[in-house]
Amino acid sequence: MTTTEHSTAENPQQQPRQGCEDVYLNWTSYKVTVSRQGYEQIVTLAQAMSVCHRCQRYYGENNMNVAGNLCLECFLQNDRHGLTFVGEAAPDLINRYHSTNAPYERPAYLFLDKKGYVYWTEAGPGEREEAYEDITATINYWEFPLPLEAKKNGDVVSLRGCSRSIYGNVRTDDIIMLRFWDYHPDIDVLFLAMRHGQSIQINKRRELHRRLFAEARQQLEATRTPGGKYLINGEYQERVYDSDVYCHVARLVEAEQKALRTAWQAEPDAQPATSAEPEESKEDDRNEDDPQE
Ligand SMILES: [Zn+2]
Repeated sequence: MTTTEHSTAENPQQQPRQGCEDVYLNWTSYKVTVSRQGYEQIVTLAQAMSVCHRCQRYYGENNMNVAGNLCLECFLQNDRHGLTFVGEAAPDLINRYHSTNAPYERPAYLFLDKKGYVYWTEAGPGEREEAYEDITATINYWEFPLPLEAKKNGDVVSLRGCSRSIYGNVRTDDIIMLRFWDYHPDIDVLFLAMRHGQSIQINKRRELHRRLFAEARQQLEATRTPGGKYLINGEYQERVYDSDVYCHVARLVEAEQKALRTAWQAEPDAQPATSAEPEESKEDDRNEDDPQE
């Protein structure tokens, strides 16, 4: 069933008809014009009586309408990248387009894949029966800070339109690396992000950051086997990729933080003067690396 709002655009001779709607029953040319009151009843009825188009069952509390006109059970019958259902998506977690003329709107739902990446679906008529990966929602869901701006050659650039990637395990790591990039304008920046904490932009001109990257690459290259392969995260690979280095840098910083924390706990009188992160922000040229929001 589809509806259109009446306007005189189709037929300029016709007077505008207030308070009625067209409803299409069964096929799109079977048009019925109904009163506004009747239309509202039809919308309520359609919402209440809609069924999953695959299993033809009514939706319920345990088998809600999660994507397009599919119920949760039918949605998960397809190969969904091993997604597990989380529940209704909090409105501030996802950036959803709201149609202003949809007769009614169903909620959006969250799913997680095996790596912990957030996917979401939109339920109801006109929505696709797919789940979409959302890196920004993943960063927010796992409570890592999301940088909105970066420093580039002394200027502040917005990261809003940038593509983004995560390096590290969002489920288990407390520090991960985030990369933001774009072509116009040319942006390619990295941030270390600490769960429930701050993010720090990587600045390769800084001695500490350069050393950290060199150390990470060196350690990964040291895994080279006599056969010429590298053993990284339990798997043999042909070379050390930048992505491996980004993950490893985050792991090194996290390990250093943990070691410092343990040391402070062992010696409560010791001055907790530096940790991997504060140390970085205390270096010179801090405007390149100010923690972002
Ligand atoms: Zn179904």
